[in-house]
Amino acid sequence: SQARIGLIGLGVMGANLSLNIADNGFPVAVYNRTSSVTDEFVASSGDLADKLSPAHTLEALVASLTTPRAVIIMVAAGAVDAVIDELKPHLDKGDMIIDAGNANFHDTRRREAALKNDGLNFIGMGVSGGEEGARFGPSIMAGGDIASFEVIRDILEAISAKHNGQPCADHFGPDGAGHFVKTVHNGIEYADMQMIAEVYGLLRDGDKRPTAEIGKLFEAWDQGPLNSYLIEISGKVLQAVDEKTGNPLVDMIVDKAGQKGTGRWTAIEALSLGQSPSTIEAAVAGRSWSSEKETREAGEAIFADIQPQAGAETLSDADLEKALLAAKIIAYDQGIKLLAAASEEYKWDLDLASCAEVWRAGCIIRSALLDDMASAVREGLPHTQLIFAPRFAQIIREGSSALRRVVASAALRGLPTPAFSNALAYFDTMRMGRGTTDLIQGQRDFFGAHSFERTDGGKGHHGPWASDVAHSAALTD
Ligand code: NDP
Repeated sequence: SQARIGLIGLGVMGANLSLNIADNGFPVAVYNRTSSVTDEFVASSGDLADKLSPAHTLEALVASLTTPRAVIIMVAAGAVDAVIDELKPHLDKGDMIIDAGNANFHDTRRREAALKNDGLNFIGMGVSGGEEGARFGPSIMAGGDIASFEVIRDILEAISAKHNGQPCADHFGPDGAGHFVKTVHNGIEYADMQMIAEVYGLLRDGDKRPTAEIGKLFEAWDQGPLNSYLIEISGKVLQAVDEKTGNPLVDMIVDKAGQKGTGRWTAIEALSLGQSPSTIEAAVAGRSWSSEKETREAGEAIFADIQPQAGAETLSDADLEKALLAAKIIAYDQGIKLLAAASEEYKWDLDLASCAEVWRAGCIIRSALLDDMASAVREGLPHTQLIFAPRFAQIIREGSSALRRVVASAALRGLPTPAFSNALAYFDTMRMGRGTTDLIQGQRDFFGAHSFERTDGGKGHHGPWASDVAHSAALTD
């Protein structure tokens, strides 16, 4: 019998996604560039083998599919265009290609437009949840041709994670909308991870708490409002013991973080949209700085004389928990605002609540908080600010004093908390009706005659410094 869907690329993600599709009762045709991988995969798939049809050529893969054909591509990011080019000649008008890898949404927009010219439909689909998610239920963020999505919606909903029975799979808009939502998901993931690591740093370096004890604390927090996959695994990572040395395993891990680029893309896209999700930017910075290990070691020697300042408050576990919760909400606020800005720019008409809804299960940032966030977004966010939504404003109101104590204490103790500090600065900026850019505008008008708007009305005003400008220009000539 013919398969409803095909999949190219049996790496970690593609193999698990195929098993998931087969496990949900849908016959799937599979292909991998290296044929031996395909054969070994099917041979080792046990009971699911009869739902998997191996293909050794793209022609055979396409021939084994029902029409309109749907082919998922799940290959290394750099290989997508090459695979599309190879696949295209075998497809007919009305067929669809689904890129399920982590693509930059600009590439997705370009691919969608190019394939449309050939009469082919394209779906850019973000898949989160890692290996286990792919196998047993990922969170799926799709964008592109809606009619094509409807053809495979039943498969995607069946294989996705469920939150209270609701599938964590949705279509978010045309062209790159799905991949953009996935990118921001990853950006938020960066911020979430960074904030947890900052708490770990305060406890390890500030309070000299044993590693396993910090792990236990995270384990306890996982039972409260911070309940989330990332807190859960952080607790487990910190309690793991290195078999070789008997030390906590994290002590044996080099502190240089890897990144594949989605966090950076989030920051870059945000900046081009006039946004600044500073918690995500800080998390990207934290990873980038971490890679300069030798430089940091040199810095430690040069500034060895710098001592913690007096006056740092001792932080209670409850303070840290509240601060982490508040900072995390601020990171989501920034992420959601970015989604709204991109939706407007690219005319996606994104359903922001639906974004939060598909993140409630399956994906890396899944958490108890997301359920409340989804409800708050559904009710409508004042000024697109999650932190202004009544239920979150209340948490932030209480948590901000803890966040303030944490940031102040970290600064006095000389411990870096870039994401926490940025979260606090953003919050304090967003609750101050009159900021300090009046002076910036004055400076701009002084040196560049950029003009300013007056508080009592009217744009295009200039200050009385025209003669000073001439004077300072003369001095520098
Ligand atoms: P890889 O990124 O390591 O990709 C491996 C697959 O790509 C193999 O099937 C390989 O075939 C194929 N491939 C590589 N180059 C080519 C080429 N030029 N032509 C044809 N096929 C090629 O695997 P992953 O499963 O980790 O990731 C796949 C995608 O999913 C990536 O975009 C990744 O960013 C994304 N992703 C990964 C997650 C993870 O946790 N790993 C989570 C979420 C998304 P061959 O066997 O012949 O080498």
